[in-house]
Amino acid sequence: AHPLLLIPGSIEVADNVLEANGSPSMSHTHQPFIGIFQSALQNLRKLFKSTDHKAQAFVISGSGTLGWDIVASNLIKPKEDALVLSTGFFSDRFADALTTYGVNTDVIRADLGDYVSYEEIEKALGRKKYKIITITHVDTSTAVLSNVEEISKIVKKVSPETLIVVDGVCSVAVEDIEFDKWGIDYVLTASQKAIGVPPGLSISFISGRALDVALNRDVDTTYFASLKRWDIIMKAYESGKGAYFATPSVQLINALKVSLENILCKPLDERFKLHIENSDWFKGELEKLGLKLVSKKHAGCHALTAAYFPEGVTGANLFPLTSKRNVVFAGGVHKDIATKYFRVGHMGVSVVDRDDTKVALEAIKESLLELSVKS
Ligand code: PMP
Repeated sequence: AHPLLLIPGSIEVADNVLEANGSPSMSHTHQPFIGIFQSALQNLRKLFKSTDHKAQAFVISGSGTLGWDIVASNLIKPKEDALVLSTGFFSDRFADALTTYGVNTDVIRADLGDYVSYEEIEKALGRKKYKIITITHVDTSTAVLSNVEEISKIVKKVSPETLIVVDGVCSVAVEDIEFDKWGIDYVLTASQKAIGVPPGLSISFISGRALDVALNRDVDTTYFASLKRWDIIMKAYESGKGAYFATPSVQLINALKVSLENILCKPLDERFKLHIENSDWFKGELEKLGLKLVSKKHAGCHALTAAYFPEGVTGANLFPLTSKRNVVFAGGVHKDIATKYFRVGHMGVSVVDRDDTKVALEAIKESLLELSVKS
C-alpha cells in the first residue's frame, strides 16, 4: 500500500478521482470535455450553497496561492486599502501578496492559537474605509478556524461596501460556507485539500458585486489571472460551449468533476458534521496522550490538528518512526514555533469513507511509545 498521506493537503484521493485524473487526452474545446467542465462549474455552486445567478465559479490552472494574486489584481487596486485578519502564516502570506501589488495592507494579528477579536475588527473598520477585508477561514499553520458568519455580520453593520474575501484553501468542503446567506464576495480555494483532487487547480467563487468590480477595472495589473478574461470562458463552458483563453488542465478538471459528484452525493451538512465529530475526537485523544494543541479550544478547525511535540520529541526523531508505520504527517510552519509542533490532516475520503484518523492516532501512540522505550 502507498504511504498514507495525512498532511493538511495534499490529501488522499478517491480511486475514481485518480482514474479520472488519468484519462486520455481530450480536446479542451470539444465534447466530452465541455460537458465535464460544465458539470464541475455547476456543482461548485452547490458546494458554496449559492443560487445567485450573478455569482460565478472560476477554475484556473494554478495552486491556492494564485487565488491571492487574483484578489490582489482584480478586486483591489494599488494604493487602495485592505484589512487582513491574521490567524497564522498563511494569513500573513496573503498580506504579503497584497503588498506585492502595491495595496495598502493593514494586518490585525490574533494571539497564537486564537482568532481575531471582534471588537478589534469593528474598531478597524470604523477607522478607515477598506476596499476588502480578508479572512483566512482555516489557517493551516495554526489550525485556527475563523467564524466567517460572525465577521461578515460585523462588516455588513460597520462597512457594508467592503468586499468580504475568504481564503478557503483549507476549509472548503470541510467547514460550512453559506456564500449567499453570509454575504461573502470571494472565496478562493485549491483542488488538493478537502475537495480531494490532486494539486494544480485554483478554484474560486465570486459574488455579482465583486465580479462587477473586476469587470469594470480600468487598469489591468495581471494577464493570466485576469477575471475579465476568464469570466467569458467560465460562462461559455457553464452554458455548454467551448471557449479559449489559455489551455485548461483537462485531466484535473475531469478529476474535479468526479470528486464533486462524490462530495455532493450525500447531504453537505452530514459531511461537515462528520468532519467536526472526527476532529473533536482526535483532538481529545491527543490531549489524553498529554499533547498540547496549538489552536485554543474555542478556535479549533476541523480539517487538521496542530499539536506540540512532547518533551524530548522532535520531527527528526518522531517522523522516521511514523513513516516506518507507513503514515506521513507534516511539520510546523508558523514562525517562532515552526520546529516545535506537527500537523495531522483529517479531511475528505480519509474521514468520510475511511477511518484514517484512527490509523493516525495508532501510529502516533506507537511511535511515541517506541521513543520513550528507546530513551
Ligand atoms: N491558504 C491556505 C490557508 C493554505 O493552507 C495554503 C496551502 N497550504 C495556501 C493558501 C496556499 O495554497 P497552495 O500551496 O496550493 O499554493
